[in-house]
Amino acid sequence: MPQLFESDPMKTALDIQHKPASETRQPPAAAAERPSLAGMSLPALGAALEKAGLTQKQARMRAQQVRRWLHHAGVQDFAAMTNISKAMRSELGANYSAARPEISTHQLSRDGTQKWLIKFGPGIEAETVFIPAVAKSGALCVSSQVGCTLNCTFCHTGTQRLVRNLTAQEIVTQVLIARDALGEWPADMENRQLSNIVFMGMGEPLYNLDNVSEAIDTLADGEGLSIGRRRITVSTAGVAPKIPELGARTGALLAISLHAVRDDLRDEIVPINRKYDLQTLFEAIKAYPGLSNAKRVTFEYVMLKGVNDSLAEARDLVKLLSRIPAKVNLIPFNPWPGTIYDCSEPDRIEAFANILNRAGYASPIRRPRGQDIFAACGQLRSDSEKISAAAKRKAGLALQA
Ligand code: SAH
Repeated sequence: MPQLFESDPMKTALDIQHKPASETRQPPAAAAERPSLAGMSLPALGAALEKAGLTQKQARMRAQQVRRWLHHAGVQDFAAMTNISKAMRSELGANYSAARPEISTHQLSRDGTQKWLIKFGPGIEAETVFIPAVAKSGALCVSSQVGCTLNCTFCHTGTQRLVRNLTAQEIVTQVLIARDALGEWPADMENRQLSNIVFMGMGEPLYNLDNVSEAIDTLADGEGLSIGRRRITVSTAGVAPKIPELGARTGALLAISLHAVRDDLRDEIVPINRKYDLQTLFEAIKAYPGLSNAKRVTFEYVMLKGVNDSLAEARDLVKLLSRIPAKVNLIPFNPWPGTIYDCSEPDRIEAFANILNRAGYASPIRRPRGQDIFAACGQLRSDSEKISAAAKRKAGLALQA
Protein backbone atom coordinates (compact mmCIF):
# COMPACT_ATOMS: atom_id res chain seq x y z
CA MET A 1 0.00 0.00 0.00
CA PRO A 2 2.78 2.55 0.66
CA GLN A 3 3.48 2.75 -3.08
CA LEU A 4 0.18 4.56 -3.37
CA PHE A 5 2.01 7.63 -2.08
CA GLU A 6 4.87 7.53 -4.54
CA SER A 7 2.65 8.79 -7.32
CA ASP A 8 1.31 11.55 -5.10
CA PRO A 9 3.92 12.45 -2.50
CA MET A 10 2.14 15.64 -1.49
CA LYS A 11 -0.81 13.77 -0.19
CA THR A 12 -0.36 12.99 3.48
CA ALA A 13 -3.14 10.53 3.96
CA LEU A 14 -5.43 8.48 1.87
CA ASP A 15 -9.14 8.05 2.24
CA ILE A 16 -9.85 4.54 1.13
CA GLN A 17 -13.19 4.34 -0.58
CA HIS A 18 -15.64 1.76 0.62
CA LYS A 19 -18.68 0.83 -1.31
CA PRO A 20 -21.77 0.94 0.82
CA ALA A 21 -22.82 -2.51 1.97
CA SER A 22 -25.72 -2.50 -0.44
CA GLU A 23 -23.39 -2.45 -3.45
CA THR A 24 -21.15 -5.26 -2.30
CA ARG A 25 -23.35 -7.85 -0.66
CA GLN A 26 -26.10 -10.11 -1.93
CA PRO A 27 -29.01 -9.90 -1.45
CA PRO A 28 -28.58 -6.24 -0.54
CA ALA A 29 -31.59 -4.99 1.34
CA ALA A 30 -32.35 -8.16 3.26
CA ALA A 31 -28.75 -8.62 4.47
CA ALA A 32 -28.81 -5.32 6.30
CA GLU A 33 -31.97 -6.27 8.15
CA ARG A 34 -30.77 -9.63 9.43
CA PRO A 35 -28.62 -9.56 12.57
CA SER A 36 -25.01 -10.55 11.96
CA LEU A 37 -23.37 -13.47 13.74
CA ALA A 38 -19.86 -12.16 13.00
CA GLY A 39 -18.00 -11.26 16.18
CA MET A 40 -20.35 -13.13 18.52
CA SER A 41 -18.91 -15.11 21.41
CA LEU A 42 -19.38 -18.87 21.39
CA PRO A 43 -22.19 -18.82 23.99
CA ALA A 44 -23.95 -16.01 22.10
CA LEU A 45 -23.65 -17.97 18.85
CA GLY A 46 -25.15 -21.03 20.53
CA ALA A 47 -28.07 -18.94 21.79
CA ALA A 48 -28.59 -17.42 18.33
CA LEU A 49 -28.68 -20.84 16.67
CA GLU A 50 -31.16 -22.12 19.24
CA LYS A 51 -33.33 -19.14 18.45
CA ALA A 52 -33.21 -20.16 14.80
CA GLY A 53 -34.81 -23.49 15.74
CA LEU A 54 -31.94 -25.85 16.61
CA THR A 55 -32.09 -27.98 19.74
CA GLN A 56 -29.73 -26.92 22.51
CA LYS A 57 -27.38 -29.79 21.76
CA GLN A 58 -27.37 -29.16 18.01
CA ALA A 59 -26.90 -25.45 18.55
CA ARG A 60 -23.83 -26.01 20.69
CA MET A 61 -22.21 -28.24 18.12
CA ARG A 62 -23.06 -26.04 15.18
CA ALA A 63 -21.87 -22.94 17.05
CA GLN A 64 -18.40 -24.50 17.23
CA GLN A 65 -18.36 -25.00 13.45
CA VAL A 66 -19.82 -21.60 12.63
CA ARG A 67 -17.36 -19.74 14.84
CA ARG A 68 -14.48 -21.43 13.01
CA TRP A 69 -15.81 -20.20 9.70
CA LEU A 70 -16.52 -16.73 11.03
CA HIS A 71 -13.47 -16.10 13.16
CA HIS A 72 -10.82 -18.47 11.82
CA ALA A 73 -11.59 -18.36 8.10
CA GLY A 74 -13.19 -14.89 8.16
CA VAL A 75 -15.97 -15.82 5.72
CA GLN A 76 -18.86 -13.42 5.26
CA ASP A 77 -21.18 -15.81 3.50
CA PHE A 78 -22.93 -18.92 4.83
CA ALA A 79 -22.57 -20.56 1.42
CA ALA A 80 -18.84 -20.94 2.12
CA MET A 81 -19.46 -23.07 5.25
CA THR A 82 -19.07 -26.36 3.42
CA ASN A 83 -19.19 -28.74 6.39
CA ILE A 84 -22.70 -27.55 7.22
CA SER A 85 -25.61 -29.03 5.29
CA LYS A 86 -27.11 -26.97 2.51
CA ALA A 87 -30.47 -26.93 4.24
CA MET A 88 -29.00 -25.57 7.44
CA ARG A 89 -26.92 -22.99 5.58
CA SER A 90 -29.99 -21.60 3.92
CA GLU A 91 -31.83 -21.67 7.25
CA LEU A 92 -28.99 -19.67 8.80
CA GLY A 93 -28.98 -17.28 5.88
CA ALA A 94 -32.71 -16.72 6.24
CA ASN A 95 -32.30 -15.59 9.84
CA TYR A 96 -28.83 -14.10 10.04
CA SER A 97 -25.98 -12.58 8.08
CA ALA A 98 -22.21 -12.69 8.57
CA ALA A 99 -21.79 -9.08 7.49
CA ARG A 100 -19.62 -6.35 9.03
CA PRO A 101 -21.05 -3.03 10.17
CA GLU A 102 -20.75 -0.10 7.80
CA ILE A 103 -17.35 1.59 7.62
CA SER A 104 -17.92 5.36 7.59
CA THR A 105 -14.31 6.22 6.78
CA HIS A 106 -11.08 4.30 6.32
CA GLN A 107 -7.85 6.28 6.21
CA LEU A 108 -4.24 5.33 5.62
CA SER A 109 -1.45 7.44 7.08
CA ARG A 110 1.82 8.01 5.26
CA ASP A 111 3.50 5.97 8.05
CA GLY A 112 1.27 2.96 7.35
CA THR A 113 -1.11 3.50 10.27
CA GLN A 114 -4.73 2.83 9.31
CA LYS A 115 -7.85 4.18 10.97
CA TRP A 116 -11.46 3.12 10.60
CA LEU A 117 -14.52 4.99 11.77
CA ILE A 118 -17.11 2.26 12.20
CA LYS A 119 -20.83 2.86 12.31
CA PHE A 120 -22.48 0.48 14.75
CA GLY A 121 -25.89 2.07 14.46
CA PRO A 122 -27.51 5.42 13.73
CA GLY A 123 -25.34 8.03 15.46
CA ILE A 124 -23.11 5.36 17.05
CA GLU A 125 -19.58 5.56 15.67
CA ALA A 126 -16.22 4.60 17.12
CA GLU A 127 -12.65 4.50 15.85
CA THR A 128 -10.15 1.67 15.51
CA VAL A 129 -6.48 2.13 14.63
CA PHE A 130 -3.97 -0.35 13.22
CA ILE A 131 -0.37 0.50 14.03
CA PRO A 132 2.19 -1.48 12.03
CA ALA A 133 5.57 -2.47 13.44
CA VAL A 134 4.87 -2.39 17.15
CA ALA A 135 4.85 -5.27 19.63
CA LYS A 136 5.50 -8.58 17.83
CA SER A 137 4.56 -7.16 14.46
CA GLY A 138 1.59 -4.80 14.67
CA ALA A 139 -1.10 -3.78 17.13
CA LEU A 140 -4.75 -2.96 16.71
CA CYS A 141 -6.01 -0.27 19.07
CA VAL A 142 -9.69 -0.94 19.76
CA SER A 143 -12.40 1.19 21.35
CA SER A 144 -14.54 -0.08 24.21
CA GLN A 145 -17.03 2.79 24.42
CA VAL A 146 -18.43 5.49 22.15
CA GLY A 147 -17.25 8.62 23.92
CA CYS A 148 -15.93 8.57 27.49
CA THR A 149 -16.93 9.68 30.99
CA LEU A 150 -13.47 10.43 32.32
CA ASN A 151 -12.67 13.94 31.04
CA CYS A 152 -8.89 13.68 31.19
CA THR A 153 -7.91 17.21 30.30
CA PHE A 154 -5.29 16.35 27.64
CA CYS A 155 -7.40 13.73 25.83
CA HIS A 156 -9.53 14.54 22.81
CA THR A 157 -11.95 11.65 23.46
CA GLY A 158 -12.53 13.25 26.87
CA THR A 159 -14.25 16.16 25.16
CA GLN A 160 -16.94 13.80 23.86
CA ARG A 161 -19.66 12.68 26.26
CA LEU A 162 -20.29 8.98 26.73
CA VAL A 163 -22.80 7.79 24.17
CA ARG A 164 -22.81 4.13 25.14
CA ASN A 165 -20.77 1.03 25.87
CA LEU A 166 -19.83 -1.12 22.90
CA THR A 167 -21.07 -4.71 23.04
CA ALA A 168 -18.63 -7.64 23.07
CA GLN A 169 -19.62 -8.36 19.48
CA GLU A 170 -18.94 -4.76 18.43
CA ILE A 171 -15.51 -4.88 20.03
CA VAL A 172 -14.60 -8.11 18.20
CA THR A 173 -15.98 -6.76 14.94
CA GLN A 174 -13.27 -4.08 14.98
CA VAL A 175 -10.70 -6.87 14.72
CA LEU A 176 -12.62 -8.60 11.90
CA ILE A 177 -12.65 -5.37 9.91
CA ALA A 178 -8.91 -4.87 10.34
CA ARG A 179 -8.18 -8.49 9.38
CA ASP A 180 -10.32 -8.06 6.25
CA ALA A 181 -8.34 -4.99 5.20
CA LEU A 182 -4.99 -6.62 5.96
CA GLY A 183 -6.02 -9.80 4.15
CA GLU A 184 -5.04 -11.86 7.19
CA TRP A 185 -7.33 -14.87 6.95
CA PRO A 186 -7.15 -17.60 8.08
CA ALA A 187 -6.57 -16.14 11.51
CA ASP A 188 -3.53 -18.30 12.32
CA MET A 189 -1.65 -17.48 9.09
CA GLU A 190 2.09 -17.11 9.41
CA ASN A 191 3.71 -13.69 9.71
CA ARG A 192 0.46 -11.90 10.31
CA GLN A 193 0.84 -8.19 10.94
CA LEU A 194 -2.03 -7.95 13.38
CA SER A 195 -0.42 -9.81 16.28
CA ASN A 196 -1.48 -7.74 19.30
CA ILE A 197 -4.55 -5.96 20.60
CA VAL A 198 -4.51 -2.90 22.84
CA PHE A 199 -7.65 -1.54 24.48
CA MET A 200 -6.38 2.01 24.12
CA GLY A 201 -8.97 3.48 21.80
CA MET A 202 -12.03 5.43 22.84
CA GLY A 203 -13.53 4.81 26.25
CA GLU A 204 -12.64 3.32 29.62
CA PRO A 205 -12.54 -0.49 29.31
CA LEU A 206 -12.99 -1.08 33.04
CA TYR A 207 -16.34 0.74 32.96
CA ASN A 208 -17.40 -1.90 30.42
CA LEU A 209 -15.66 -4.91 31.90
CA ASP A 210 -18.35 -7.53 31.22
CA ASN A 211 -18.29 -6.82 27.50
CA VAL A 212 -14.51 -6.37 27.35
CA SER A 213 -14.02 -9.68 29.09
CA GLU A 214 -16.45 -11.51 26.77
CA ALA A 215 -14.68 -9.92 23.78
CA ILE A 216 -11.28 -11.09 25.05
CA ASP A 217 -12.61 -14.66 25.34
CA THR A 218 -13.55 -14.49 21.66
CA LEU A 219 -10.27 -12.87 20.58
CA ALA A 220 -8.21 -15.45 22.45
CA ASP A 221 -10.16 -18.47 21.17
CA GLY A 222 -7.60 -20.77 19.52
CA GLU A 223 -10.29 -22.07 17.14
CA GLY A 224 -11.16 -18.52 16.17
CA LEU A 225 -9.14 -15.31 16.09
CA SER A 226 -6.25 -16.91 17.99
CA ILE A 227 -4.80 -13.82 19.66
CA GLY A 228 -3.17 -15.05 22.88
CA ARG A 229 -4.16 -13.37 26.14
CA ARG A 230 -0.54 -12.28 26.65
CA ARG A 231 -0.82 -10.32 23.41
CA ILE A 232 -3.83 -8.39 24.63
CA THR A 233 -3.32 -5.28 26.77
CA VAL A 234 -6.09 -3.43 28.57
CA SER A 235 -5.41 0.17 29.54
CA THR A 236 -7.22 1.95 32.36
CA ALA A 237 -7.10 5.48 33.71
CA GLY A 238 -7.38 3.90 37.16
CA VAL A 239 -10.70 2.25 38.01
CA ALA A 240 -8.93 0.70 41.01
CA PRO A 241 -11.61 -1.74 42.30
CA LYS A 242 -11.86 -3.40 38.88
CA ILE A 243 -8.12 -3.89 38.29
CA PRO A 244 -7.58 -7.25 40.05
CA GLU A 245 -10.89 -8.47 38.59
CA LEU A 246 -9.67 -7.61 35.08
CA GLY A 247 -6.66 -9.88 35.56
CA ALA A 248 -8.67 -12.72 37.07
CA ARG A 249 -11.30 -12.66 34.34
CA THR A 250 -9.18 -12.04 31.25
CA GLY A 251 -5.53 -12.93 31.84
CA ALA A 252 -4.69 -9.86 29.75
CA LEU A 253 -1.74 -7.55 30.34
CA LEU A 254 -2.39 -4.38 32.32
CA ALA A 255 -1.58 -0.81 31.31
CA ILE A 256 -2.14 2.20 33.56
CA SER A 257 -2.53 5.74 32.28
CA LEU A 258 -0.58 7.39 35.08
CA HIS A 259 0.51 10.80 33.77
CA ALA A 260 1.21 12.33 37.19
CA VAL A 261 3.03 11.27 40.34
CA ARG A 262 1.28 13.57 42.83
CA ASP A 263 -2.39 13.47 43.80
CA ASP A 264 -2.90 17.22 43.40
CA LEU A 265 -1.78 17.19 39.76
CA ARG A 266 -3.42 13.86 38.92
CA ASP A 267 -6.71 15.08 40.45
CA GLU A 268 -6.58 17.85 37.89
CA ILE A 269 -5.48 16.08 34.69
CA VAL A 270 -6.91 12.57 35.27
CA PRO A 271 -10.00 13.44 37.34
CA ILE A 272 -10.85 9.83 38.23
CA ASN A 273 -7.95 10.24 40.67
CA ARG A 274 -10.31 12.18 42.95
CA LYS A 275 -12.24 8.96 43.39
CA TYR A 276 -9.29 6.52 43.47
CA ASP A 277 -6.11 8.26 44.58
CA LEU A 278 -2.57 7.11 43.87
CA GLN A 279 -2.32 5.00 47.00
CA THR A 280 -5.57 3.16 46.23
CA LEU A 281 -4.51 2.75 42.61
CA PHE A 282 -1.12 1.28 43.49
CA GLU A 283 -2.62 -1.15 46.01
CA ALA A 284 -4.91 -2.42 43.24
CA ILE A 285 -2.02 -2.71 40.78
CA LYS A 286 0.02 -4.74 43.27
CA ALA A 287 -2.96 -7.12 43.55
CA TYR A 288 -3.00 -7.78 39.79
CA PRO A 289 -2.72 -11.55 39.37
CA GLY A 290 0.46 -13.01 37.92
CA LEU A 291 2.68 -9.93 37.89
CA SER A 292 6.28 -10.89 37.18
CA ASN A 293 9.17 -9.78 35.03
CA ALA A 294 7.58 -11.68 32.17
CA LYS A 295 4.22 -10.05 32.86
CA ARG A 296 4.95 -6.44 33.61
CA VAL A 297 2.58 -3.55 34.03
CA THR A 298 2.90 -0.83 31.39
CA PHE A 299 2.64 2.71 32.73
CA GLU A 300 1.69 5.34 30.20
CA TYR A 301 2.94 8.84 30.85
CA VAL A 302 2.02 11.63 28.46
CA MET A 303 4.71 14.33 28.31
CA LEU A 304 3.09 17.71 28.91
CA LYS A 305 5.44 20.68 28.75
CA GLY A 306 5.80 22.43 32.10
CA VAL A 307 3.01 20.34 33.64
CA ASN A 308 4.35 16.88 34.53
CA ASP A 309 7.78 16.72 32.88
CA SER A 310 10.30 17.92 35.51
CA LEU A 311 13.23 15.66 36.32
CA ALA A 312 12.15 15.67 39.98
CA GLU A 313 8.92 14.05 38.79
CA ALA A 314 10.92 11.40 36.93
CA ARG A 315 12.72 10.58 40.19
CA ASP A 316 9.41 10.46 42.09
CA LEU A 317 8.08 8.12 39.43
CA VAL A 318 10.95 5.73 40.09
CA LYS A 319 10.04 5.74 43.80
CA LEU A 320 6.37 5.15 43.05
CA LEU A 321 7.17 2.13 40.88
CA SER A 322 9.49 0.46 43.36
CA ARG A 323 8.93 -3.27 43.64
CA ILE A 324 6.47 -3.33 40.73
CA PRO A 325 7.55 -5.20 37.58
CA ALA A 326 6.98 -2.30 35.24
CA LYS A 327 7.88 -0.52 32.06
CA VAL A 328 7.01 3.05 31.22
CA ASN A 329 5.77 4.27 27.86
CA LEU A 330 6.56 7.94 27.52
CA ILE A 331 4.04 9.37 25.09
CA PRO A 332 4.85 12.71 23.46
CA PHE A 333 1.64 14.73 23.80
CA ASN A 334 -0.38 14.69 20.59
CA PRO A 335 -2.15 17.99 20.06
CA TRP A 336 -5.75 18.41 18.98
CA PRO A 337 -7.84 21.49 18.13
CA GLY A 338 -8.57 23.56 21.22
CA THR A 339 -6.09 21.93 23.60
CA ILE A 340 -4.28 24.05 26.17
CA TYR A 341 -1.20 21.78 26.33
CA ASP A 342 2.10 21.58 24.48
CA CYS A 343 4.37 18.59 24.11
CA SER A 344 7.55 18.57 26.19
CA GLU A 345 10.83 19.37 24.42
CA PRO A 346 12.60 16.30 22.95
CA ASP A 347 15.67 16.88 25.19
CA ARG A 348 13.47 16.87 28.26
CA ILE A 349 11.70 13.68 27.24
CA GLU A 350 15.07 12.04 26.74
CA ALA A 351 16.41 13.21 30.11
CA PHE A 352 13.21 11.98 31.77
CA ALA A 353 13.62 8.58 30.06
CA ASN A 354 17.27 8.36 31.13
CA ILE A 355 16.35 8.66 34.80
CA LEU A 356 13.88 5.80 34.44
CA ASN A 357 16.33 3.69 32.43
CA ARG A 358 19.11 4.15 34.97
CA ALA A 359 16.71 2.91 37.66
CA GLY A 360 16.16 -0.27 35.63
CA TYR A 361 12.84 0.54 33.97
CA ALA A 362 12.55 0.14 30.23
CA SER A 363 11.05 3.42 29.10
CA PRO A 364 10.61 3.64 25.37
CA ILE A 365 9.55 6.98 23.96
CA ARG A 366 6.53 6.26 21.86
CA ARG A 367 6.90 7.60 18.37
CA PRO A 368 3.66 9.35 17.40
CA ARG A 369 1.92 7.34 14.69
CA GLY A 370 -0.77 8.33 12.26
CA GLN A 371 -0.81 11.99 13.31
CA ASP A 372 -1.70 13.07 9.75
CA ILE A 373 -4.97 11.15 10.00
CA PHE A 374 -5.60 12.06 13.64
CA ALA A 375 -5.06 8.48 14.75
CA ALA A 376 -2.40 9.03 17.44
CA CYS A 377 -2.97 8.44 21.18
CA GLY A 378 -5.65 10.69 22.56
CA GLN A 379 -6.72 12.06 19.18
CA LEU A 380 -9.69 9.77 18.68
CA ARG A 381 -13.08 11.35 18.74
CA SER A 382 -16.25 10.67 16.79
CA ASP A 383 -19.13 13.02 16.19
CA SER A 384 -21.57 10.68 17.89
CA GLU A 385 -23.52 12.62 20.49
CA LYS A 386 -25.75 11.35 23.21
CA ILE A 387 -29.21 12.69 22.63
CA SER A 388 -30.38 14.31 25.84
CA ALA A 389 -33.67 13.32 27.40
CA ALA A 390 -34.89 16.85 26.74
CA ALA A 391 -33.98 16.62 23.05
CA LYS A 392 -35.69 13.23 22.82
CA ARG A 393 -38.83 14.63 24.42
CA LYS A 394 -38.73 17.53 22.03
CA ALA A 395 -38.34 15.19 19.06
CA GLY A 396 -41.21 13.07 20.38
CA LEU A 397 -43.41 16.13 20.71
CA ALA A 398 -42.47 17.24 17.22
CA LEU A 399 -43.47 13.82 15.89
CA GLN A 400 -46.81 14.01 17.65
CA ALA A 401 -47.50 17.53 16.50
N1 SAH B 1 -9.40 5.14 29.20
C1 SAH B 1 -8.30 4.23 29.05
C2 SAH B 1 -8.08 3.79 27.61
C3 SAH B 1 -7.62 4.89 26.67
S1 SAH B 1 -5.94 4.61 26.36
C4 SAH B 1 -7.07 4.86 29.64
O1 SAH B 1 -7.09 6.04 29.95
O2 SAH B 1 -6.09 4.17 29.82
C5 SAH B 1 -5.44 6.04 25.52
C6 SAH B 1 -4.08 6.48 26.01
O3 SAH B 1 -3.69 7.67 25.30
C7 SAH B 1 -4.12 6.83 27.47
O4 SAH B 1 -2.92 6.50 28.09
C8 SAH B 1 -4.29 8.31 27.40
O5 SAH B 1 -3.96 8.90 28.61
C9 SAH B 1 -3.37 8.67 26.27
N2 SAH B 1 -3.65 9.99 25.71
C10 SAH B 1 -4.81 10.66 25.75
N3 SAH B 1 -4.72 11.84 25.12
C11 SAH B 1 -3.46 11.93 24.66
C12 SAH B 1 -2.78 12.91 23.89
N4 SAH B 1 -3.38 14.00 23.47
N5 SAH B 1 -1.47 12.67 23.57
C13 SAH B 1 -0.88 11.52 23.96
N6 SAH B 1 -1.50 10.56 24.68
C14 SAH B 1 -2.78 10.76 25.02
